[in-house]
Amino acid sequence: MNRKAIFPGSFDPITLGHYDIIKRGISLFDEVIVAIGINADKKYMFSLEQRKKFIEEAFKDEPKVKVITYQGLTIDLCKKENADFILRGLRNPADFEFEKAIAHTNRKLSKIETVFLLTASKTSYISSSIVRDVLRNGGDISELVPDSVMKLK
Ligand code: ADP
Repeated sequence: MNRKAIFPGSFDPITLGHYDIIKRGISLFDEVIVAIGINADKKYMFSLEQRKKFIEEAFKDEPKVKVITYQGLTIDLCKKENADFILRGLRNPADFEFEKAIAHTNRKLSKIETVFLLTASKTSYISSSIVRDVLRNGGDISELVPDSVMKLK
């Protein structure tokens, strides 16, 4: 059986936390599809194309990682891509509470299982919103994001 997982998120931009979850995800699944959600109500710092390029470049030597963009429900995307799993990272209790409600709802609406990985302790404090704040204020983000973001931003 081909085990595919969708890793959904905004990735504005991808951080070393996301990178860690994807790396570990490919040891569990045959394919990890990183799916960048398009939300018309959200203001992003990086364009969809840029966010996609950062991830593609970071995993250019990893054939098990595919990057796509999507609109709508993640479970509908799972059906379209033939993926039985959603992959999510957990950093802290706030993530857990939020993710729990979404995972239960997705189970109610479909048979898709959500698989959670605890973040590596060294990246558990990193968030895209803090990375954006540091960037906006001229700080150095090189310790927080994959090299591809530094190269292409
Ligand atoms: P969203 O808009 O869905 O919150 P994000 O791009 O912020 O999108 O996050 C996507 C996924 O990556 C979520 O499962 C989130 O918990 C996880 N994630 C975010 N930051 C980290 C981190 N530092 N370590 C591990 N997982 C993370």
